[in-house]
Order: sequence, then structure tokens, then C-alpha cells
Amino acid sequence: MTTLKMPLEVVQCLNFINGEWVKGEAGTQNITSPYHGKKIGEVSIPSLNQIKNAMKIASDAQVEWGRTPHKERARVLFNFRNILLRDLEEISHLKSAESGKTFNEGMAGLMKGIEVLEYALSLQNMDVGGRMEVSRGVSCEYRRTALGVVANITPFNFPAMVPMWTIPIALGLGNAYVWKPSDKTPLTSIKIASALKEAGLPNGLFTVLHGGAETVDAIIEAPEVKAVGFVGSTKIAKLVYTKATSLGKRALCMGGAKNHIVLLPDATPDIAGVGISDSFTGCAGQRCMAASVLLAVGDVDQHITKIKNRAESLKLGTDMGAIITRAQRDFLLEAITRAEKAGAKVVLDGRTAKAPAGMEEGNWIGPTILDNIQPGSEAATVELFGPVLSVVRCKDITHAMQIQNSSEYGNACSVFTNSGALADRVTREAKAGMVGVNVGVPVPREPFSFGGIAASKFGSGDITGEHSLNFWSDVKKVTTKWEKQNDNNWMS
Ligand code: NAD
Repeated sequence: MTTLKMPLEVVQCLNFINGEWVKGEAGTQNITSPYHGKKIGEVSIPSLNQIKNAMKIASDAQVEWGRTPHKERARVLFNFRNILLRDLEEISHLKSAESGKTFNEGMAGLMKGIEVLEYALSLQNMDVGGRMEVSRGVSCEYRRTALGVVANITPFNFPAMVPMWTIPIALGLGNAYVWKPSDKTPLTSIKIASALKEAGLPNGLFTVLHGGAETVDAIIEAPEVKAVGFVGSTKIAKLVYTKATSLGKRALCMGGAKNHIVLLPDATPDIAGVGISDSFTGCAGQRCMAASVLLAVGDVDQHITKIKNRAESLKLGTDMGAIITRAQRDFLLEAITRAEKAGAKVVLDGRTAKAPAGMEEGNWIGPTILDNIQPGSEAATVELFGPVLSVVRCKDITHAMQIQNSSEYGNACSVFTNSGALADRVTREAKAGMVGVNVGVPVPREPFSFGGIAASKFGSGDITGEHSLNFWSDVKKVTTKWEKQNDNNWMS
């Protein structure tokens, strides 16, 4: 197991405008590592004027890039992929240090992002348009065109993977791309921007602007920005979606989640034990696809023991990472105590877990399993975003599906069973965009697309895969008719 390396000195995280690193005129903010609470970076915030200028530069740069043939754009993306693979370990250390992930989780996230990039390398093969003679002498044709400048705003929990859902596809389709990374995990953006520059992407086509709500508002309001992608909490997703669409812009905003796992008594205990434990503890529960509520149907006690044993064996700092902020860690501790006071049985208590040696100032909590959680309670309905599994006892599948269907969210739902018929029932009845059978984290892999439903997504289509092509481009329809020409000898 590779030991995570912290940056040796404070990382200066500047904005990336016109292919250059630019100091922001609106001050700096400190970035601390969730592992030990110490400062590891300083992020520079741009002024509104700097943002306006960056948009103009992006817009000017896009004109030529939009005219560049697919094959030439794909060559830049191909270089980008190879640079990311070359620097995989270095990038993974930095992104894990700032986000609290383990080193292996950091690597896995970046590799998932690279899968999207590899998918985007095929844009030239997918985007062949189509042409047909629709009546005598008249033909219709599809031609995809770039939108111009597009923007994307990303959350703290996947500093590379989530941005990589959109960067290769939006750039590959000929747009200029403006990225506002999370204000909590901005450091990874340095590696991604540097890799694109080294790959040969012309200046101005990739812009990184830091900050929080003010930067986001300025980006959305910029007249050059035609489409806004967002990934983060439901509250902010809704806000960004409303603002962008009210300004007449295209928006696709992915929100939060509260994912259910339906556990049936006929499931193989070892498979359920590993799948469910890894799902709620992976990335310390800080992923939008994490298992959060276990709908335990009938007698599944031996399965729950397996889940508990595996979760209990995890070592903090190496097998499971830290929580993004001290405030969020404290919120989790308090939410567990509130659930206990409301009658939950604490089967596995992460509140007493010990921080790894030398990291006592980090934001630590151990895996926690709460049994006898009441449907409708905080632990059953609110996205806690930590390694906490709420077990709700259900008398049958109908009861379990009623609870799942009553969630405001609709990101993921899985079932663990050995019955094809029951698995089919759950996959049909689940109110979720991504459904799994004997899979704890049902993330679709390329070319299948990623996206939830209900309050987990505002806008239509998915953020990756085939649907995303239509989000980041327009499709022009060209109808052509040529009258029969006079007989000219030279034409015959
Ligand atoms: P967040 O909503 O707090 O922040 C997301 C982004 O919005 C950040 O870049 C942040 O700087 C910016 N932001 C914050 N406040 C803003 C405001 N008032 N106006 C405009 N922008 C603002 O989310 P987070 O805490 O960084 O990430 C965790 C959340 O993201 C969880 O809810 C998780 O479920 C969700 N998430 C969803 C998906 C998905 O695909 N559905 C994927 C990953 C994470």
C-alpha cells in the first residue's frame, strides 16, 4: 500500500487564464488538509474584472478551435491522456492530500476521469453526423457545432474525476472551457491545467477561476458563457440551475443523494458484506453514490454482521480517509448522537475511533452502523455525507420500495439478492437514475452515462456518455437543394 505524500511546501494555487498562471486581485484563502488540519495550499481569488477579461479571452480563442477538425482536437486530448497517465501518482497524492481520500481512492478517481477522456477520443467516430436525400434533389444533413464558451462548477469530493466528466467532451466538441473548482479542493486544478498546456491546447481555451459564490455568479452572468454544468449539493445545484436558466443559458446541475440498498435474505452474505461495507465507507462516505440507507428485508442479521466486521477492520488513514472539514466531522458526530437519542441501536460506533498517529488535528470519524432507524427520521432521509449506514428494518419488499420511493433524491439504489425475479422487480420499481444488482456503488462505466433523477439532478440528460454530446453542442440541420444546371459541356 502506497503511503500518502503531503506537499512538502505550501502550494500556491493561481488562476489559469490565457495559458498563464495569474494571481487573483481579490485576496487568498488557505487550504488545509483533512488529514492533519495543517495548511497545504493558498488559493488566489480573481476580481470581477479579471473574470470578465478571462471570458473575453476564452471567447476569442474559441473561434479558431471551433473550426479545428475533430481529428486535430483529438490529438491534443490524446496527449492530455498520456500526460495524466504519466503523472498519475503525483496527481493522486495531491488530490488525496487536499480531499482526505486515501491514495488508492485518489488513483481510482483519476482513472475514472481518464476513462471519460478515452471515450472523448472517439468523438471523431461518434460525431459523423448523417446525410440523406429526403426528396429528389434535396438532401438533409446534421452538423454538430460548438456552443462557444462553456462553464463547469465542481464539488470537493472528486477534485479530478468530476471535472474530467466534462472537460474532454466539452473541449473535444470545440468549446472553450471555464472551470470553477471547489473552494475546498482547488489544488488539483493546477495539475490538470498544466497537463492541458503541455498537451498543446492553444491558450485561452481552458480557464480556471477560483473562489466561491461570487466567482460562480460572475461566470454564469458572463454573456460569453452559453452552458453551465454543475455538480454539488442539491441546494446549490438548484440555485445555479435557476440562475443560469433564467438568463437563457443551458444548464445541467447534478445534486446530492441519499442512496438505498435493498438487502434480501437470499443474498450471499460474503458478497453483500463486502459490497455494502465498501459502499458506505469508501471515500469515508463522501460520494454521491455511497450507500446511506440499508433497507433490511426479513432476517438479514448474518449479512449485517459481515458488513460490520469488514467496516470495523478498516484502519483510519490508510483504508479509510478523513472528512473534508472539522465542521462536517462534528455535524456527523452530532447526527449519530441525535439518532441514538431517537432510539437507534449503535451497532458500530465511529465516534470513538482514534485518529492515526500524528494526525490528531485531522477530521476523523470511524465507520458507523445505526440499526432500527425510523423511516422519515434525519438518519433515514438527510444526506449526512459521511461513513454512516442507517439500517431500516422492512417487513417485505413492498415496504422497502415504499421507503426508497419516498426519498426526495434519486441518484442510486442497489439490491443484493440471488433471485433474478426479485432483482428485476427492484430495478423496475426503484426511483433512481442508477440502479445496481449485487453492486454497492452502481456507477455506470463508459460508454454508459452518469446521472440521477429527482432532486439529484436539475436539467435533462446525463453528464457523461452520449447525452452529454448534445448538452455541450448544438446540432444544426442543413437542407440543400441544387436546381438542375444548364447543360454545359465542361460539366459533362
Ligand atoms: P457544494 O454544493 O457545497 O459546492 C459545489 C460547488 O458550488 C463548489 O464549487 C462551491 O464552491 C460552489 N458553491 C458553493 N456555494 C455556492 C453558492 N452559494 N453559489 C454558487 N456556487 C456555490 O457541494 P460540496 O460540499 O462541494 O460537494 C458535496 C455535494 O456534492 C454532496 O451533496 C454530493 O452528493 C454532491 N455530489 C453530487 C454528485 C452527482 O453527480 N450527483 C457528484 C459528486 C458530489
